Amino acid sequence: MKDIIPYFSQNPLDRLDQVRGNSSKFLELFNSENTLFLLFDGSEIIVDEKNKNCLFQKNVLDEYGISTEELILLGEYEGLVYFSATLKSKLNNNLSKISLRDFVHLNFLDENKFGILAQAAAVLNWHEAHQFCSFCGKETKISRSGWKRDCISCDKEHFPRVDSAVIMLVTFGEYCLLGRGINFKERRYSCLAGYVESGETFENAAKRELFEEAGIDSYDVEYLFSQPWPFPSTLMVGMRMKAKSQELTLDKNEIADAIWVHKDEVREVLNGKDDGAFSIPNKIAIARNLLELWVEEK
Ligand SMILES: [Zn+2]
Repeated sequence: MKDIIPYFSQNPLDRLDQVRGNSSKFLELFNSENTLFLLFDGSEIIVDEKNKNCLFQKNVLDEYGISTEELILLGEYEGLVYFSATLKSKLNNNLSKISLRDFVHLNFLDENKFGILAQAAAVLNWHEAHQFCSFCGKETKISRSGWKRDCISCDKEHFPRVDSAVIMLVTFGEYCLLGRGINFKERRYSCLAGYVESGETFENAAKRELFEEAGIDSYDVEYLFSQPWPFPSTLMVGMRMKAKSQELTLDKNEIADAIWVHKDEVREVLNGKDDGAFSIPNKIAIARNLLELWVEEK
């Protein structure tokens, strides 16, 4: 198999799980001069465009009123410790913010560290959505270096969640199936995808989603590779499967259109051809990786 590396899938950090419950070690790392902070404002990352930087020293935390109780310990790599946090006040003129989708094209950070971005963004998104206890409704507070929230009333513990979604390379001979979601931009087609439900394997979910969305039975379902997708905290699970027929029955509530595309045509579009027929997602999407893998095969 060709070496396919989806964006956000490389994370070199030692996540320092053994440190998470040790508050004195946490403070020691926080105060180290080898510590860097990734900062977010909602779903956007804070950058210093002038210096092409997104990793800040501790003095920036003071400037934006961020306390140690709001920090997530991400981990350590090559002698540097990484934390992340959400801004508490407005940005000054030296810094700006940008969506993660756009940030990855700026080359401020090596691609082999994009997994750190996904880790930071996903866990911060989880904190934002879990300020209150799902058992009793009272407030929760951050604990364990940002990897848990505790209810202040009923003592229930809450841990960051990851939602799994399957995304499927569906083939029939030399053709693959591409679909247009009802919210896709004009001419954009991609691999069909959907969330894994309770009590399902990845394989079950892929077969079910394909049948629900396109009315197609499938076989030879297999896992290929996966991608952290921090919008807000999903794991995209790349699957492949063979269709038993090409006859489509679309679920028009979800799929505006679907087409069978020949491998040669997919290869041309991947290589930059734009004849107006269809476009596929850019390089940050695992759908593109699935198609790249397929066109490389003999
Ligand atoms: Zn509670």
